[in-house]
Amino acid sequence: MSPTIVAVEPTAPADAAASERALRRVADPAHGTGPQRWDDVDVHDYKVAGSAPFRGVTRQVLFERDELACQVRYFEVEPGGHSTLERHEHVHAVVVLHGRGRCLVGTSVLELGPRDLVEVPPMTWHQFRAADDAPLGFLCIVNVERDRPQLPTGADLEALCADPTVASFVRVAD
Ligand code: MN
Repeated sequence: MSPTIVAVEPTAPADAAASERALRRVADPAHGTGPQRWDDVDVHDYKVAGSAPFRGVTRQVLFERDELACQVRYFEVEPGGHSTLERHEHVHAVVVLHGRGRCLVGTSVLELGPRDLVEVPPMTWHQFRAADDAPLGFLCIVNVERDRPQLPTGADLEALCADPTVASFVRVAD
């Protein structure tokens, strides 16, 4: 018997744009000095200047497809810089990529280094600070739909700063 020949349907043409988007390379694989960057990923200010206290933080959105319902952002805090002391209902899942620093989660001040994982639960005060002599670069995963961060009131700050370790850590000015 002769073998059965099965016609193979041609596959749909590849979506060229999607293929190009599938891989975006890190701009400096060895990552010497300077902030971590990726090709074709815009670099933004962390927040609108003056909207909240912070110093020396950039933000890059790495993944944000509608189907994911989350965003993966990369923040880089320059040496001596800090994110905003804030809390909100949405949670953060953080993966440190490089550098050194510390963060406040609730009432704990935690040392951070590469590949450390940090979870920030709902309505928990948090702040990230780079070391004075090193940047702190981390991925932060959040829901796309999320509430606006709350800044501490005077009473909140007073309560937080009852703990001397927290008091010496937090930064509430630029
Ligand atoms: Mn936050």
